[in-house]
Formats: sequence, structure tokens, C-alpha cells
Amino acid sequence: MKVTVVGSGISGKSLALMAKRMNFDVFVTEQGKLDENTKTLFREKDIQWEEGGHTKALLDCDLVVLSSGISDKTLPVQMARKTGTPLQGELDFIFPYLSGKIVGVTGTNGKSTTAALINHLLSKMGYNVALAGNFGIPLANFAMMPLDFIVVELSSFQLHWTKRFSCDVAIITNIYPDHLDWHGSFEAYVSAKRRIIELLSPKGCLVCRAQDEEILQVREGRVARLYWSFEKFMHDAERVQDELVLNDSEALLRTEGGHIRLFPLKSLSLFGYHNVENAAMAMAAIYYLGCEVERAREFLPYFKNLPHRCEKVGEKDGVVFIDDSKGTNVASSVTAIASIPGVKVVILGGRGKGEKYDKLAGVIKKHVRAAVLLGEEKEVIAKSLRSAGFSNFYLAASMKEAVYKAFEMACPGDIVLLSPACTSWDMYRNYHERGKDFQEIVKNLIEACVVKNGRESN
Ligand code: ADP
Repeated sequence: MKVTVVGSGISGKSLALMAKRMNFDVFVTEQGKLDENTKTLFREKDIQWEEGGHTKALLDCDLVVLSSGISDKTLPVQMARKTGTPLQGELDFIFPYLSGKIVGVTGTNGKSTTAALINHLLSKMGYNVALAGNFGIPLANFAMMPLDFIVVELSSFQLHWTKRFSCDVAIITNIYPDHLDWHGSFEAYVSAKRRIIELLSPKGCLVCRAQDEEILQVREGRVARLYWSFEKFMHDAERVQDELVLNDSEALLRTEGGHIRLFPLKSLSLFGYHNVENAAMAMAAIYYLGCEVERAREFLPYFKNLPHRCEKVGEKDGVVFIDDSKGTNVASSVTAIASIPGVKVVILGGRGKGEKYDKLAGVIKKHVRAAVLLGEEKEVIAKSLRSAGFSNFYLAASMKEAVYKAFEMACPGDIVLLSPACTSWDMYRNYHERGKDFQEIVKNLIEACVVKNGRESN
């Protein structure tokens, strides 16, 4: 059989190599240019390719496989549709070659953290487990590997194409507007996320927030709904459903069989209530996979969050610096600002995603002493802050200026939080570079002994 792989990025390359291992004839079509290492690799593996655009050659195959992020609008998809050439997303292509139970983690925010936490717990418990997805290793690398479990972070782009990829446990961390340019509308984004529910294995379980149930149109099957004990919910007496309950001190799972104590909140070494939700969903997954919750609980405190996600960087004169560079949309920054305890000076801005900032401005008014605005979007955010009646902000020209200004505006006991609510692409290659730059500047500031009135000592 001949397959054409669309895209030669990390996921496309991995798909092409996997297809070759499965004895397919492989052709890769790439809009941009291939680097020399990729060309050498493809030559060694006898993989054919075209670069710098797509030609009819891509249709000389039995199946077109789309790597991560390829949308309906791309030329190869349109060409394949026009000629009736079968099309498949990467998840469906890989699915028949996977062994082990699959935990799929999707949602707008918290996917990587939750997936990494489940992987941490299962591997510490001694299982043979793989962590795959956008932030981990591409899923195709795990084809034909004998595994107990595969934890996979699933983006809405990947789910959009699924027709058979089925999870044993599906987690939807939360749903907010995101990637609307790719999907065309919020409804289309939600319906892509819904694929994980529609394709759940017959004995599978869905874990989601109770407040998202309506938008996700959750109807049948086994569902564990997460809610905070202070929230009010209508309980449907007819329906026996599991509930993941968070109160002030612990996370519990209420099932038909009784209460399962998941963990005391104080055992978590992560910041913010959003991470309590992530951890509760991760522990629920452990339960639904049939693993021992009590053993998993022992390993929970040792999970260190991934870099640039509410990560403590340092402290000076009673001011704590937190790097949340991965806060790249309004919902994630709203969560970080509202859920990290204490008064904040927040550094915001970058390249906007076309989102509105009124909700962010509302949260800033409530929890923030001062804001320092940065990047292409700073004037737009400033306008929203002014409209909300918040005027203690400063427009900075660089990250260094932003960090020093934030420190100057903070009082002892405050938190300087980088949580931009925007992408980094106006100033950096990615959120990781932005976070590293922030951390470097903070370290220098701490070492330079800048004192709080702006005067430098040493
Ligand atoms: P994703 O993989 O979905 O982008 P991450 O785990 O990388 O999510 O977290 C990205 C950012 O989203 C974090 O820096 C934090 O600000 C925010 N976040 C994490 N978990 C949640 C959650 N459960 N609810 C809301 N925001 C969250």
C-alpha cells in the first residue's frame, strides 16, 4: 500500500517513519523546505518526498495521512477530496498499531500538566507507560510497542479528523474559546473536542467538569463529573453517575460503590486550584484504569510541574516570581491570576489571538496591584483595563524593562506573575523561549541586588 504523509514536522516525520516500519511505500509532501537531516534520514529509509509546495504527485497513493495541525483548508486535503482519495488523520492511522489501554487528555488548558501527571503516577507505580502528544513524543513512535498504558495529549486539530481512535479513559479538562481561526467557530471547536466522547470505548469512562457538561452535550455512558463542593448542581436521581468532588481539604470520588479518598489538597506541590482540578482528574483516571489509588497517592507529592506553567522562579525582598509563560490564552491567565493566592503584579501581552480582554480586566481589578503590558497587544489590553476602571499599569518595551518595573511596583508579600494571555510569536520563537528569557532576567535581578526603590546596590 502507498501512503502520502502531509507535513514533515515532528509528527509528520514520525508518521512517515512508522509507515515505513509497517512496510508502506511512503511519500511526504511539504509546503515548506526540508532540512538536511530530514532529507538524509528519508534517503536512508527510502522515503520519497516533495518540498516547497504540493503537486499532483501526492495523489499517487491509496491513502493520504495528515500530520498534526493540518486543517480542512490546506491544498492536499482539498486535492484529495476532489479526487476521492481516502484521507485519514494521524490518530486513526496509528490506532490499530497501539497496544495497552489508552488515556486521552484534551481540553483548552491543562492537557500537558494532567497527561504528565498521569504518566508520572503510572510509571512510579511500575507500569510500562508512554506519554505521547504535542508536548511529549509523537504517538507514532509507540506503534507496535508492548505497553500497559499510553497517555496521550490530544489537540482539537487531531480530534477533528478522528473516526476510530478510541480511548479507555477520556479527560476533558475544561472548555473555553480557543483556536477559533483554525476551526472557524466555537461550535466547530467544541464538536472536535466531542469526538473523544463519541469514540470512547464501550467500557470507557469520561472525566469532565460538571459545568462543561451542557456545552459538551454529555449524555450517555460512564461519566465522572468534577465539581467544587461550593458549587450547586442539580443531581439527576435517575442517573447513577460518578462525582469527583473537591472541597477545601480533599478530593473525593463518589461512585456507586462508595467514596474513594483521592488525596488531601495539601499534598500537592503545585500552585493554584486549576492544578487541584488537573490532579483530581489524573487520580480519577488512575481509578478508572483499574490501578490502586492508594499507591498512586504516595507519588502525587513528588510531581513537579512542567516548566513555564505557574513555575516558581525565585524570591527577592519578599516578592515571589512565577513564570506562567504557557498562559497563552485569556482563560489560562484568568485562571492563573485568580487561583494563585496573594496580591499580584502581572506581566501580560504578546501576540493576541483575537480574544476579548474584558474578563481578564475584571479579574485583574480584583486580584492585581499593578500590570505591566508588553508586546503587540499591549495597547489593546490597556484599553480594556481602562474601560474596566483599572489604571495602575505600565507599558514596557522589553521583557527586561517589564520585569524590573514589575518588581518596582510590587510590595513585599506580592507575586510577580508572567502570564501573558497571548502567544509569544511577536518577540520569541515560542512560549519556552519567552519563559527562559523571563527566568534569566529574574535571576540577574536577584543577583544584581536591585533594592526595591530601584537603587542598585553591589
Ligand atoms: P495545555 O497543554 O492544555 O496548553 P498546560 O498544562 O500546558 O495546558 O497549561 C497551560 C496553562 O494553562 C498553564 O500555564 C496555566 O496557566 C493554565 N492551566 C493549566 N491547567 C488549567 C486548568 N485546569 N484550568 C485552567 N487553566 C489551566
